[in-house]
Amino acid sequence: MPDESTSPARPDARNPWLFDTHELGRRPGSSRTLRRDVPVDTPLGVPDVILVPKGATVALDLLLESVVEGVLVTGTASAPTTGQCSRCLDPIADEVEVDLTELYAYPDSTTDETTEEDEVSRVVDDKIDLEPLVRDAIVLALPLVPLCSEDCAGLCPECGVKWADLEPGHGHETIDPRWAALVERFGDNQGDNPANGSDR
Ligand SMILES: [Zn+2]
Ligand SMILES: [Zn+2]
Repeated sequence: MPDESTSPARPDARNPWLFDTHELGRRPGSSRTLRRDVPVDTPLGVPDVILVPKGATVALDLLLESVVEGVLVTGTASAPTTGQCSRCLDPIADEVEVDLTELYAYPDSTTDETTEEDEVSRVVDDKIDLEPLVRDAIVLALPLVPLCSEDCAGLCPECGVKWADLEPGHGHETIDPRWAALVERFGDNQGDNPANGSDR
């Protein structure tokens, strides 16, 4: 038997993501609720896009039920998010909430014997580690293109100023490069400029 104090797979009892299922007693039907606020050590999400920042709190509101094969976890996790609008680049503060459903298989259950550990989570030393479950669910739920508001108009492509901050009718006196080429060409023979052609 490996030395417990040095085995890296052994969960840390001080880890707030770990929950001791011992009191469920492996009696199918027994359950308990788990409400816990877990501080975030490692940001969840995509830097410079949107994430749950370090120092934020993930609020867990879960039901843990003993079933024949293991411990079934259902409920929600919610956390504040910070990010940047992908159109106007303004900072965004929002919230993400995810629904969770996960079976943690008992070590000697049929599920344990017939699945790989990366397919089905495991109960380890009577404990379940909620971090991978919650982390994956939150990261998947974050918007790929976060917006400050659904109808954010973004930035003027010419001057980079937010449309919301610009005067109505704002524009720039620029000529489309394709037109510029035409203007140059027809500028050489203004006498019969097709723009003033006979069909007008
Ligand atoms: Zn925006
Ligand atoms: Zn502009």
